[in-house]
Amino acid sequence: MKKLLAFIVFLFIADAALAQADSTVYDKFNTFNNQVLKGKVTKADAQKKFKEFKAFLLKQSASTGSGNGANWAFPLEGYSYKAVGGTNGNGYSDKGFRYLDGNKHGAHPAHDIFISDKNQDCMDDHMLKPVNVLAVKAGIVVACTNQWDAQGNMRGGRYIWIYHPEGFFTYYAHNRQIFVKPGDNVQEGQKIAEVGRTGFNAYQKRSPTHLHFSAFKLADDIPAPFNPYTQLKSAITK
Ligand SMILES: [Zn+2]
Repeated sequence: MKKLLAFIVFLFIADAALAQADSTVYDKFNTFNNQVLKGKVTKADAQKKFKEFKAFLLKQSASTGSGNGANWAFPLEGYSYKAVGGTNGNGYSDKGFRYLDGNKHGAHPAHDIFISDKNQDCMDDHMLKPVNVLAVKAGIVVACTNQWDAQGNMRGGRYIWIYHPEGFFTYYAHNRQIFVKPGDNVQEGQKIAEVGRTGFNAYQKRSPTHLHFSAFKLADDIPAPFNPYTQLKSAITK
């Protein structure tokens, strides 16, 4: 009996140690991602980091599951691809974009998805409440920030990065509030944030309230954007 008890205590401690180790990995990645934003990471360093991180994530994703079918959940609750800015998704342009340029990157490898918010109070004008930002597929939150300073120059504001076991990342920026932290497992269609106006440009009056949404694959171990318009078009509105 004593032995069994000792074994259970051992398992408990081992499990806690593992969870501790995992959260350290995510915190380190989050710190790394912040350094990227400041433009302080070399290509070789980033490749090394992503190689290690990818191996780690592959182990994690076995327990994450991959959601239901090929269709994504649309990232804004109650909205569809019709809210995507531009004409037929032409707001997306990845020419000249380099992930390692961080906060100073060029191009717009993203779709801006607009909510109806004339007075810019981040409340939907029809629903009279904030609009929920949803994870498009199941995955693991790998980086995010809740810190944002209206006087600062950071463009993403309160943002979230999710890794999906299918092998891609999604990025959600300008949120008013986020409800996840690095290391969290999220389900397809789960609320992760609320649409907001955080971020240097998104905060300006000229900018209508929107979610800035991107998708990335690893190419040569560096995140490279791909155009997710097809996926957004066939996504299911929650
Ligand atoms: Zn944008």
